Amino acid sequence: MSDRESLHFINGEYTAGSSGLTFENRCPVDGSLIGLVHEGKREEVDAAVSAARAALKGPWGRMSVEERVRMLYRVADGITARFDEFLEAECLDTGKPKSLASHIDIPRGAANFKVFADVIRNVPTEGFFLETPDGAGAQNYGVRTPKGVIGVISPWNLPLLLMTWKVGPALACGNTVVVKPSEETPLTTTLLGEVMNDAGVPRGVFNVVHGFGPDSAGAFLTEHPGVDAITFTGETRTGTAIMKAAAEGVRDVSFELGGKNPAIVFADCDMDKAIEGTMRSVFANCGQVCLGTERVFVERPVFDEFVARLKAGAEGLKLGRPEDETVNMGPLISKEHQQKVLGYYKLAKDLGATVVIGGGVPDMPDDLKDGAWVEPTIWTGLGDDSAVMREEIFGPCCHITPFDEEEEVIARANDTVYGLASAVWTENMSRGHRVAAQIDCGICWVNSWFLRDLRTAFGGTKQSGIGREGGVHSLEFYTELRNVCVKL
Ligand code: NAD
Repeated sequence: MSDRESLHFINGEYTAGSSGLTFENRCPVDGSLIGLVHEGKREEVDAAVSAARAALKGPWGRMSVEERVRMLYRVADGITARFDEFLEAECLDTGKPKSLASHIDIPRGAANFKVFADVIRNVPTEGFFLETPDGAGAQNYGVRTPKGVIGVISPWNLPLLLMTWKVGPALACGNTVVVKPSEETPLTTTLLGEVMNDAGVPRGVFNVVHGFGPDSAGAFLTEHPGVDAITFTGETRTGTAIMKAAAEGVRDVSFELGGKNPAIVFADCDMDKAIEGTMRSVFANCGQVCLGTERVFVERPVFDEFVARLKAGAEGLKLGRPEDETVNMGPLISKEHQQKVLGYYKLAKDLGATVVIGGGVPDMPDDLKDGAWVEPTIWTGLGDDSAVMREEIFGPCCHITPFDEEEEVIARANDTVYGLASAVWTENMSRGHRVAAQIDCGICWVNSWFLRDLRTAFGGTKQSGIGREGGVHSLEFYTELRNVCVKL
């Protein structure tokens, strides 16, 4: 039991705001109360956006790139210095194993500031010499300027990592931000305010307003005319609502949305690697990873072997508390999400799926009974057109289906409205390159999963997103590129 209160962070100070509204933040491990979260309405969003606008004209706006870069390094070091606090907070909010968050969420949260500081320090801009009839010519060159106030709306599955993935490049480019973290996971974003102050980041550069989406801080932020651009990670349905809000004032959006990602396992794969990678891509973070696999296609000669080995892997998963070092799977984020995932578990059965393993709520010890637990689950036997194969479930589950031909499996993998990530398992590299080129997605891994180089483009096609972030690609969204043409 903890009594952590989540306050807004506006203009460098923590505040409860004036709405007088709070909501409960509960731990998904056992349902215990973590603390109250203050809900921001229009007034809090107004105050945060005003602070962010003013900060653009203050010391932050006049700072050299080198000074900004050094400051972002201090922010990254500040997260690392308080590693255990961030880890504790992230695991309380999400219930994920500490062994996972200590390797991924918190280090990546810090790295996101350094990577984009390095990008902005080193990135060149284009230059063109134009020949003119008088023979003197003209020199063109690009200048990048910050876009202004960026609205950041982030999800709950990798709270610190995905929020800093946006705040890092936004600040590196000289913008200011107002963040609306997920209502499920307010703690690490709140804590980051202290790190910003300690690093000397001027007031108003980084602001946080808590709350929900519709009729709450999320909607008020995205509708706010003082916000110049909106970067959002979350569900495709929410992206649609935010895009409508952004249309007013013709504001730019960057969207990282849902997926229904395929894995394709060819008979010539290294089966040990394919099983290890698919175990992670299906069950890591209790299946709540946007890049995770929910559709597995396996070439018929190795289908039975693959199903048996993935089942054995799932049987070996240990569910439990974040601090237990032997645990490799936590609960889902909330009771509400548990009901959604269990709805798909029931639907799969009703549709006649063969339940290879799982399909229900695990028998947990008494002290964990109120947590949002579900069993790791594998199905076979459903058609490609069933809802279980078409809709994003966002739980620790996958459906495995056999295929016979390369062309056939590419068509089936692409038969979805989504296009975020994919994984191809084969030892035939010609095939690996060939298939990777034909899958509609933003990221295709061949013989790996979640191997991320932060300099590379990240994003989705179709309904999985708009735009690319990562490395220099983030500059396309977080800066305006102005061309200066000088007649000589
Ligand atoms: P969500 O869309 O429910 O919520 C995300 C954020 O949007 C939250 O902060 C929420 O309060 C806010 N929000 C909700 N409605 C809003 C509105 N009308 N206006 C403004 N803000 C609003 O998503 P979630 O459940 O937190 O996260 C899970 C989803 O995120 C999954 O679909 C997953 O695939 C996706 N995701 C995508 C990526 C990616 O990189 N593509 C990464 C992680 C998660």
